[in-house]
This record gives sequence, structure tokens and C-alpha cells, in this order.
Amino acid sequence: MTLLYPGSFDPVTRGHLDIITRAAKLAPHIIVAVANNPLKTPLFTAAQRVALLHEVTGAIPNIEVVSFDGLLVHYAKRRGVTAILRGIRDGEDAANETRYAWHNRLFEGEIETLLLPASAEFVHVSGRIVREAAAHIYPSGLGDEVLQRLVPATVRKALQAKWEPPETPLR
Ligand code: ADP
Repeated sequence: MTLLYPGSFDPVTRGHLDIITRAAKLAPHIIVAVANNPLKTPLFTAAQRVALLHEVTGAIPNIEVVSFDGLLVHYAKRRGVTAILRGIRDGEDAANETRYAWHNRLFEGEIETLLLPASAEFVHVSGRIVREAAAHIYPSGLGDEVLQRLVPATVRKALQAKWEPPETPLR
């Protein structure tokens, strides 16, 4: 049984990591798939998002991290996965994910979607909240304790680096 967990992971958060860790106990193989969506301008490139996911999931043996282009269902079919896995934080996520699942079945009638509820301590965590917090904290020199609660240390450092002033060239 292989589960495909797709998302933007821009960047990977403690909420994503919680879903990945729990899923890794449910299925022998989890593919975490970074969507390379040409219609979106992410903070981190697909390669950077994959690298961060690699680092934070390094201790979990049955995780594969990839990036993919094009339609998710086509990638899922190509990889022969058992089901697509999505995390849901609240009723709004549940409604949206149910619609995505129906939509995916329009393209590939056989494809199943499994929804895993967020753990209570991470229901408020999203990639967007993390990006907004970092964009506020780092340029103004504020403490980043909040970010430590939202993302693993490696990701916090990568966020900090995005707002570091460029080095002044030596004369
Ligand atoms: P985000 O909404 O944080 O930008 P993505 O688009 O990368 O997340 O989402 C990938 C998947 O992870 C989606 O199914 C999303 O609902 C789920 N997810 C995101 N954050 C959490 C969280 N804190 N807890 C559980 N699932 C989450």
C-alpha cells in the first residue's frame, strides 16, 4: 500500500510533519509530493521545498520525497498509488478536500482519497501563516519564538536566510 501526500509545502510545517509521521505508521510507503504549480509564485523553489522535506523526514525510513508537474491524478496513476492522502484542519478543509476528491475522480474514476484530521495542537498551522509570520518577524528583527512552534528548526533557518541582508562585496 502506497499513499501519495501532495501539497505545496511552502514550507513544510509541523502540521505537515505530524500528518507524515502518522501516515508512515499506517502504510509501508508514503510519497510526499511537492506540487510544482506554474500558476503560483512560491516563497521556496520546488527544489528547496524538496530539500527541506528530505531534511525533516530523514529519520522516517518509509518516506520518499519528490516533486511533480502537471495533474496530480496523472502522477498518482503513473506511480500506481493506493490512494491520495490529504490532511484536514477544520470543516472548511473537509469541504474543500471532498470537492478535490470528487474532482480527481472525474479525471481518474478509480482514484481514492483518504483524509486524516490534524492533531489538535496543529489545527491553526498553515504554510501561509508561516510565510506571513516570517515576513513580519525577520525584517523587523523581532524574536522568532513563534516560528519555532510552527516549523522545525531547519525550516526556521531557511526562512531566516530568505530575509538576511545580502553580503556587501569586499572592495
Ligand atoms: P498549506 O495549506 O499549509 O499551504 P499545503 O497546500 O502544502 O498546505 O497542504 C498539503 C496538505 O496538508 C493539505 O491536505 C493540507 O490540508 C494539509 N495540511 C496543511 N497544514 C496542515 C496541518 N496543520 N495539519 C494537518 N494537515 C495540514
